[in-house]
Amino acid sequence: MQNPFEYSDTNKRYHTLEYENRRRYGGRVVKVPLDAGFTCPNIDGCRGRGGCTYCSSRGSGEHAGLPGTPLMEQFRAGIEASRSKWPEARYIPYFQAHTNTYAPVEVLREKFEPFIGLPGTVGLSIATRADCLPPEVLDYLEEIARRTDLTVELGLQSAFDSTGERINRCHSYAEFTAAVTELKKRGIRVCVHLIDGLPGEDRAMMLETVRRVAKLPVDAVKLHLLYIIKGTVMGQEYLEGKVRELSMEEYVGIVCDQLELLPPEVVIERITGDGEEATLLAPLWSLKKRRVMNAIDKEMARRNSWQGKGRETK
Ligand code: SF4
Repeated sequence: MQNPFEYSDTNKRYHTLEYENRRRYGGRVVKVPLDAGFTCPNIDGCRGRGGCTYCSSRGSGEHAGLPGTPLMEQFRAGIEASRSKWPEARYIPYFQAHTNTYAPVEVLREKFEPFIGLPGTVGLSIATRADCLPPEVLDYLEEIARRTDLTVELGLQSAFDSTGERINRCHSYAEFTAAVTELKKRGIRVCVHLIDGLPGEDRAMMLETVRRVAKLPVDAVKLHLLYIIKGTVMGQEYLEGKVRELSMEEYVGIVCDQLELLPPEVVIERITGDGEEATLLAPLWSLKKRRVMNAIDKEMARRNSWQGKGRETK
């Protein structure tokens, strides 16, 4: 069957990051996750204690370099790890672990400056929380965005504050929308992280979150499957039977519905979970990432659907 989706030159019926990078940079771009040793206001007691219930001691930076290792060393190791697969690639340093704007601007400068315009890179990605963007930090991010392709990644997970409370997110949907407005006002690219399968949420809520995000001026979305990690609060809740895992069929159906709701221009930077075998409690099917992605492609083709197709009708 011919693929009618305009933001694709493969069988993908959604706007992949790989496609976007080929379009923008003319080739493969690899994001190298880094751990800059930040903490999080949701861990140190400023907004909350203990962190989001699914968050590991790595601060959602499971794939980042080892904490304590000099950042440039982490970056070089990340490049080496991908070089045999993609020798021609260029790179985006990705400040991933914990909250990467939770420090005074001088500290942020120390961490970010060596990576801005570094040969072989095409931009910079910074993951943070909506409540960690005071005016002086926004000014600095705006300055970075004038010098390189900056993406700020905001963890929303759900548009529902009731879910936010349930997972101890400790900031509100209103704070998130205010942060998106501020970042966009300053011309900064925004990527939003969402999680499907959070406790207390049904399919209708997961679709409603995407419906709301679709109305905001966001540039990219990461659709994560909730994966439950050993040693976390949620891991304990799972073992006590208080958290249910999604089946692969449920997840595929929900993601395809969500893709249909998102504007076709929005880049889908991730479409499933990325847990590690050694620490993953559930769902174990998520380890077979290729299988999940193939099932999504197959379902979109079966529906003869594509990203944005259902925006008017759903
Ligand atoms: S905001 Fe991020 S780093 Fe902070 S507790 Fe939640 S998941 Fe962990």
